[in-house]
Amino acid sequence: MSDKVTSLNQHLAPIFDLQAAAAVLSWDQQVNMPEQGTEARSNQLATLTSMAHELFTSDETRKLLEAAESEVANLDYGGDAASTVRVIRRSFDKETKIPTTLVERETRAASQGFVAWRKARETDTFATFEPHLQELIDLQVERAGHLGYTEHPYDALLDQYEPDMTTAQVEALFGELKEGLVPLVREIAAQPEVNDDFLSLTYDDQKQWDFTLLLLRDIGYDFKRGRQDRAPHPFTTEFSSADVRVTTRIHPGAPQSAIFSSVHEGGHALYEQGSPEAFDRTALAGGATLGLHESQSRLWENQVARSLPFWYHYYPILQAFFPDQLSSISLTTFHHAINKVQPSLIRVEADEVTYNLHIFVRFELEKALVTGELKVADVPDAWNARYEEYLGITPPNDALGCLQDIHWSHGMVGYFPTYTLGNLISAQLYEQALAGMPDLEENYTQGEFEPLLSWLRDRIHKHGRKFTAPELLEREFNTQISAQPLLTYLRKKYSELYKL
Ligand code: ZN
Repeated sequence: MSDKVTSLNQHLAPIFDLQAAAAVLSWDQQVNMPEQGTEARSNQLATLTSMAHELFTSDETRKLLEAAESEVANLDYGGDAASTVRVIRRSFDKETKIPTTLVERETRAASQGFVAWRKARETDTFATFEPHLQELIDLQVERAGHLGYTEHPYDALLDQYEPDMTTAQVEALFGELKEGLVPLVREIAAQPEVNDDFLSLTYDDQKQWDFTLLLLRDIGYDFKRGRQDRAPHPFTTEFSSADVRVTTRIHPGAPQSAIFSSVHEGGHALYEQGSPEAFDRTALAGGATLGLHESQSRLWENQVARSLPFWYHYYPILQAFFPDQLSSISLTTFHHAINKVQPSLIRVEADEVTYNLHIFVRFELEKALVTGELKVADVPDAWNARYEEYLGITPPNDALGCLQDIHWSHGMVGYFPTYTLGNLISAQLYEQALAGMPDLEENYTQGEFEPLLSWLRDRIHKHGRKFTAPELLEREFNTQISAQPLLTYLRKKYSELYKL
């Protein structure tokens, strides 16, 4: 690595330490912390993050970054040196364009907004959240103005979560996906309902926990560099490539919840554990964009762990864990039950066919909110109308409708599309993996996932944060993000399951 890039890395390393320390505190808050610890913890987190922000946006960083830029100007775009400088430049520009006063107002609005949102959801009164949502949206519009955009203010917001993707590109992809999904959902809805009653029996907590550990170990999650804990809203967090933690939740009357959330978070974690050790404490460490991250979790959760070959191996094991509940249930019945498609009101509980329809609703409303085409007061009606149109159901109240997600209460606008982008990319990657390894799924019938993991390590994980999603797909597969592979995968799988 060149001298100037080394100086830049040395300058930034303590900032990554501060961020990792904040991540430990945040993990602890969600996993261990007693209820009354919230206020002190918020102060501790605010101190660490503002220290990191101040150091990162300092003149010292600017000088070192400019010096490093002149040194890497003629180096290979994908090399470590040029990539480090490019990735830092992107964050530096974003963080320095936003005035500190705006960040402070956003933080205040988000903490008040969160409290109001929680109350509004509990009491099912959108009006309680409405003025806060107005303020949060106004602040996001202001943020977009500072970040800058050429076509749509939403471009600037989206770019924070999924760099190199524009609103117009997302609209085109989602439009194509919607055209394929809406009729598929209708065809499935016309079929006889699937029996999944046995999934609501009582499944022992400890046995569920043990089964998730077995799955994590088998897919390649390294427990010497990680651990699993419980959290009400499962997540993955990392403090270095050698300490990547997952969480799961266990519902005694719904064993599929723990199984798929553990494998989902395991997919995120495999990505982080696959980040090269040499990238630790640098800007290249970890997974790249939110969309790419979600592509990894979704691939393991859906394409792998909801597949029939996977359950050829694991269903007898699961039956041995739960003989009273499952011994009389056939593999076919079980497999169909965990792939049941049913239009529902709640995004996080949606199956893989209807899930993206929930995202379209949020994407369309967010765009209209930031341009002012949609008034905040009209959000509940606009929300309900779209649920009726796309899913054929209308929420009976706002708690089960537009108040269900936490994102807006934190001022996160532009985030939702990354979930669907992740789903699209997961299907593209899986199609590529199968093309290169036609017998891949036979490994699953033996509980063997090393070929898939090695392939992901080699094509995706080893790059760390070097490339945006469009760059990575272009470089590794000579392709762009596309809706067709997901549509093809869903159409094939569900035509077989539902005999369409
Ligand atoms: Zn995820």
